[in-house]
Amino acid sequence: MLTDADLVRYSRQLLLPDFGIDGQQALAAARVLIVGLGGLGSPAALYLAAAGVGHLRLADGDAVTSSNLQRQILHDETTLGMNKAASAVRRLAALNSTTRLQPIATHLQGRALAEAVAGQDLVIDASDRFSTRYAVNRACVELGVPLLSASAVRLEGQLALFDTRSGGACYRCLYPLAAADDAQQACAESGVLGPVVGVLGSLLSLEALKYLAGLPTLRDEVLMLDLRTLSQYRLRLQRKPDCPDCGSPATR
Ligand SMILES: [Zn+2]
Repeated sequence: MLTDADLVRYSRQLLLPDFGIDGQQALAAARVLIVGLGGLGSPAALYLAAAGVGHLRLADGDAVTSSNLQRQILHDETTLGMNKAASAVRRLAALNSTTRLQPIATHLQGRALAEAVAGQDLVIDASDRFSTRYAVNRACVELGVPLLSASAVRLEGQLALFDTRSGGACYRCLYPLAAADDAQQACAESGVLGPVVGVLGSLLSLEALKYLAGLPTLRDEVLMLDLRTLSQYRLRLQRKPDCPDCGSPATR
């Protein structure tokens, strides 16, 4: 039930004809886990809290360092050294006091990861490690939770929504083998401009809001952005029958 204050606060998005009151109520009821509160997770979390998403689980085991501040806009000089989930809660609580915020100050894995994914409407993977990405993917496949994923390095990025409940591909179908370097390592070695992760993180929040409000989203495709030339293209995603994560047990 929306209050008068809600109607004012969210008026700009309530005005959208295919969003409206129903969309707002869906956001208020929604539960989203964000894994990784760095360059991608920062804008994603900020826009979801600002839009009135009701419940956010925020997971990151790292502490804020000075080299994060160039692009990780959840954090600032006053939270240097603080765990990123705690820093995120501080910022997001000031932004929207009605969003229920649950910090998880560890690198999620194993049973803790399964417990964090269970019961969520959507998981956003904004992490920078392949091992985390694979583990989050497996948990989402097993628990039937859609996974929205983005990555960015240098001036390039990509975005996809993986939903195996309807026969769609999973993250592992797209990346059967882990690349030699993690995004964390790639960022440290190859560099990245802040707005590049900002664009991809904003797209994460955009697709999340559309998904939660029942609007059409990117489906069965991965969006590839080259932000040096501002060009984009899309690759068709196909489920691999022998995928180790989502393939049928007989063909794995
Ligand atoms: Zn798969």
